[in-house]
Amino acid sequence: MRKKIVAGNWKMNKSFEQAEALICDILEEIDGLDSRLANVVICPPAVYLEMAVDLARETSISIGAQNMSQFTSGAYTGEISATMLQSMDVQYCILGHSERRQYFNETDEILAAKVKTALENVIKPIFCCGEALAQREAGVHFDVVKSQIENALFTLTEEQFAEVVIAYEPIWAIGTGVTASPQQAQEMHEFIRGVIAAKYGIAVAEETSILYGGSCNAKNAKELFANPDIDGGLIGGASLVAADFVTIIKSF
Ligand code: PEP
Repeated sequence: MRKKIVAGNWKMNKSFEQAEALICDILEEIDGLDSRLANVVICPPAVYLEMAVDLARETSISIGAQNMSQFTSGAYTGEISATMLQSMDVQYCILGHSERRQYFNETDEILAAKVKTALENVIKPIFCCGEALAQREAGVHFDVVKSQIENALFTLTEEQFAEVVIAYEPIWAIGTGVTASPQQAQEMHEFIRGVIAAKYGIAVAEETSILYGGSCNAKNAKELFANPDIDGGLIGGASLVAADFVTIIKSF
């Protein structure tokens, strides 16, 4: 059975003390939660990864990065490599977030390289895809998402693809308070699963966790997660408040 996952993307938020307190609060509130119900991944800013990994050690929580370089090592000032993440016991990395595509010019080609490098270093990519509002209004949202997935992921072997988590994040829903309706999200998730099945077969598609992201919060998570192809969420704003994040984790 595929994994249910709730991942928190903290983006560029929190001081060191606040970050530490937030992780401790989340750990305290999910103490005793059956980890089969939901796998929890916290993705703090890179400078807090070491602290986060230490706090999460021997708990059911996994730690993820928000970005990494496509290069393995060398003269790339300011960058963080997959080997560095692996050496710190970081297990996941968000790749292809729309903010990175938009503000840092990450193309499908760069993302394909990042995904490969992550997998070669035993880091599970949480690969984000999703259309802009104008693309949805123009009726090309399925084409956009399909090409993002094909371009960045479809050179992977079946074995490599099995380690990838997909996050469908319509750009118009990220940080806007406008959530995709459960029907819109389910429809896209089902479509994505079909795209994966056509390339890697039904068994692989059925095992792929596809998360929804975009103003998912403590109030609407249950309704979204109730859909057969929605396997959890990638949570931005609501992951910064322990009580809200834990309510989302408990929404299956
Ligand atoms: C995100 O940025 O991944 C996200 C889903 O943000 P928010 O939940 O704040 O819309």
